[in-house]
Amino acid sequence: MTAIATHKTDRAFQRPPENPEHDVYEFADQAFKLIREHGTPPYPSTYALWYAYVSGTDADLTTAVDDLLERRSSPSDYEIREVSRQHLSETQAMDSRQKIGQQFEAQVAKVLAMIEQSVSDSDRFQETLDQIGDDLPETATTDRIDVIISRLLVENRRMSEQSQQLNNGLKNSQKQIEQLNQELEEVRSQSMKDPLTSVANRRAFDARLAVEINAFSPADSDMCLVLADLDHFKKVNDTHGHGIGDEVLKIFANIITENIKGQDMVARYGGEEFAIILPRTDIEGARLLIEKIRDKFAKTSFVIKKSGKNLGRITASFGIAACAPGVNPKELIEIADQKLYQAKDLGRNRVQA
Ligand code: GH3
Ligand code: MG
Ligand code: MG
Repeated sequence: MTAIATHKTDRAFQRPPENPEHDVYEFADQAFKLIREHGTPPYPSTYALWYAYVSGTDADLTTAVDDLLERRSSPSDYEIREVSRQHLSETQAMDSRQKIGQQFEAQVAKVLAMIEQSVSDSDRFQETLDQIGDDLPETATTDRIDVIISRLLVENRRMSEQSQQLNNGLKNSQKQIEQLNQELEEVRSQSMKDPLTSVANRRAFDARLAVEINAFSPADSDMCLVLADLDHFKKVNDTHGHGIGDEVLKIFANIITENIKGQDMVARYGGEEFAIILPRTDIEGARLLIEKIRDKFAKTSFVIKKSGKNLGRITASFGIAACAPGVNPKELIEIADQKLYQAKDLGRNRVQA
């Protein structure tokens, strides 16, 4: 892994001295240097990412980019977009969450107001009853009793209309709150999904892997991590275009999704790389399952609908690592990555465990 050392020691920038005016030009220079160095075109989002990286304003973003660079000397477009989306465009998801939160608050305020209103209505009802009681003469005439009864009837109707209103108001609020809850759930699940393939994204993967490794106990059960990478995918893009490449990625993600079950998780790990977490699965079980997936994908025929053109055979390589006591997520990923590269070295369209 010389790429790591070279990159880390070569990191082309030094934090400039404290001087905001000087800083922005210095950071911009450094950002452009990295754009050239990594061949990532200076789209606003890419520039923003490198700028944030060199300025070191966001520790999570710095770690995410360092991790990327550690694995690959140059991050892919997808990886740049993912890191930007997660760290720089987080504001969009935050905005939605904030809006939903405000609507929640408004609903809660509405319910409180309705309850307050109802309490004061029933207080008033009580007062009226007391008043009628006070007004009650010791010997009432029939006329007087008629007046009292009609007053009671009016008050009673008013009270029951008010409780009907309260009831409707509360039901309405409940419906709105349920809908807000659903929207919130939607925002939450969107922020954990890869928009192209609809499988989990890197963030969801990182979170889940940490949970699984934490819960891992070899006495109880095994756990395996798989990294998968499409073979010669650059050629697919170069020959048929990026759009077709995207379709192939979706199909690959689908085949994995259809062949794993329940507790297993597949995530888009990088551009054309996927990670699969297989809890309660030993290395032999994992190998069998991944062999099946590899074989299914290799046997898939890809035909472009419009032209009827066949893309020919597309394959993927896989590396499997079994979790061991005391291993951290990064180490487990590194082992799976090494196995994946062995699979590539040995001729691709292979599973190495
Ligand atoms: P290898 O067998 O060694 O893995 O070769 P490769 O060509 O697959 O590997 P390389 O790392 O050279 O190229 C990966 C390619 O994946 C290049 C990049 O354009 C493509 N890629 C990454 N993300 C996406 C994406 O979201 N959509 C498409 N269509 N292509 C992507
Ligand atoms: Mg790759
Ligand atoms: Mg590849």
